[in-house]
Amino acid sequence: MAHRVTFIPGDGVGPELSEATRRVLEGTGVEFEWDEQEAGADVMDKYGTPLPEPVLESIRKNGVAIKGPITTPVGTGFRSVNVALRKELDLYCCLRPCKTYPGVRTRYENVDVVICRENHEDLYAGVEFEQGTAEAKEVIEKIGELTGKTIREDSGISIKPISITGTKRIVRYAFEYAKREGRRKVTAVHKANIMKFSDGLFLATAREVAEEYPDVEFEDRIVDNLAMQLVARPEEYDVLVLPNLYGDIISDLCAGLVGGLGVAPGGNIGDETAVFEATHGSAPKYTGKNKVNPMAMMFSGMLMLRHLGEREAADRLERALGEVISEGKNVTYDMKPTRDDPSAVGTSQVADAVIEKLQASA
Ligand code: NAD
Repeated sequence: MAHRVTFIPGDGVGPELSEATRRVLEGTGVEFEWDEQEAGADVMDKYGTPLPEPVLESIRKNGVAIKGPITTPVGTGFRSVNVALRKELDLYCCLRPCKTYPGVRTRYENVDVVICRENHEDLYAGVEFEQGTAEAKEVIEKIGELTGKTIREDSGISIKPISITGTKRIVRYAFEYAKREGRRKVTAVHKANIMKFSDGLFLATAREVAEEYPDVEFEDRIVDNLAMQLVARPEEYDVLVLPNLYGDIISDLCAGLVGGLGVAPGGNIGDETAVFEATHGSAPKYTGKNKVNPMAMMFSGMLMLRHLGEREAADRLERALGEVISEGKNVTYDMKPTRDDPSAVGTSQVADAVIEKLQASA
């Protein structure tokens, strides 16, 4: 039976990357019924919002979406569609597998790390008090009263909430992912030595959840130590589970280990729905130029296939992408030895090459 999937082309380079990705997903032989939905800067005039309600309805109904990048307009008062999607659909896990493929330009080999970043809490909860406001003054006074500690009155304040509920579900997701994908270890990342009641709670809760999974190894690392170890010995790490802020930073660090934005896939996942998308943005200056690398979105499509239970097709797509990368012929400018290499191909030619590999392996 065909999988019904919400298909959001996005804006900027989104539509060309999405089209290339749709073609290779269909090239695996898996059947899809695409429910195409418009969102992003280009639809604001038509709907008055970059995230029209039918988009959310469609994802809720289908349970799965694949999405091209969407621009966050600066200074228009519109919130980021990407953040809104995560909130509205309660997509609490940002999944970011970071794996090196032979032929990708990177200093590292044998990296295969999967990041499970909590998406809602921590310093990203959006509870902030602007310096100089009456609210900030009140908070500073109250904190003085409750803790006896002095905060300078010209301070801005950001609150860092981390809950047992939020931690339990992200850590459970990490363990369930590890079990499903045959991974050996989960590492919880924190700074519990300094922030005892937020990161400390994250760590204590992670330890508790780990006991439910005796077959998967569990360890923890302080985030600064982890950063150092990841650049020194990345092969020692497997699945990482992190609160929001550390997850954000370590995701980019790991994307750097494996060759950068052009090959960094992702998914935002909740209990009911999942939205798969590349890590990179809409690269507006390249819009319509058939130039940028579709691999990150194609790898996101591979994650979606696994999520849909189409493991064999996902493995074939991964192999096809790996072969195109290692041959180094039909790849975009960012994967060539120099950025102005005249042999670089365009977005749609990468899709053609991947489809050819898929056909050869069928
Ligand atoms: P960006 O990722 O769009 O682009 C930064 C640079 O990275 C590009 O100029 C390009 O040189 C390179 N790059 C990005 N994707 C590439 C690809 N597939 N192939 C080759 N090179 C690539 O980041 P930005 O310029 O900071 O953001 C542009 C817009 O995208 C902003 O409005 C931002 O809010 C939005 N954004 C959206 C998402 C999302 O939809 N999930 C994620 C990040 C940023």
